Amino acid sequence: MLERTRFSSRAPVEVYRAVQQSVVHFVARDGKDAMYRSIELRKACCAIRKLEPLERALAGQKAWITGLRREQSAARAEVPLIDTADVPKNGRTKINPLANWTWGDVWHYISVNHVDYNPLHDEFYSSVGCAPCTRAISLGEDFRAGRWWWEDEAAKECGLHVQQQEKAPA
Ligand code: SF4
Repeated sequence: MLERTRFSSRAPVEVYRAVQQSVVHFVARDGKDAMYRSIELRKACCAIRKLEPLERALAGQKAWITGLRREQSAARAEVPLIDTADVPKNGRTKINPLANWTWGDVWHYISVNHVDYNPLHDEFYSSVGCAPCTRAISLGEDFRAGRWWWEDEAAKECGLHVQQQEKAPA
C-alpha cells in the first residue's frame, strides 16, 4: 500500500516508523498480543507505534491537517474545522477540513476526482488501522466498530486525536 500511495500521491510521502528498540522491549515484556489484554497495554502500544512517531513528524510544525469527520463516532461528534485546543501546549493548530463531510460526501469526491483509496474499504473495512486492531464491519454497525472492537466505545481512540492532557503516557 505504501508504494501505491507514493505512486498516486501528488505530494511527497515521508514515512515515520516506531523506534525499533521500544517495540522490541514492549513485545518482550508484554507479548505481541498485549493490546488485547487491557486498555492500558493497548494505549501503551499506540503510544510507541503511533503517538511517538507522529510527535516526531509534527515537531516544529505550526499546523497539521487530518481527515477527522464528526459522523465517524460519538467521540468525534464535535470536531471543529479549526482546532486550537493544543496551541497553548505545543503551538500547533489542527485543521479538520472534512469535519462536516458525510460518508457519502467522501465517496462522491473520490468517485468524481478519481482519488485512489485503500482497497480494504471494498471489503467492508470502513476505518483502517493496524492489522491486529482492525476488522471489517457488518451492515448497520458504526463506521469505527471495526477498530478495537473488544473495548468499550468510550475508549476507542488511539491518542492521536485526544487532547494533550488526556494522552496515553509515551
Ligand atoms: S492500533 Fe493496535 S497494533 Fe496499532 S499501535 Fe494501537 S494497539 Fe498497537
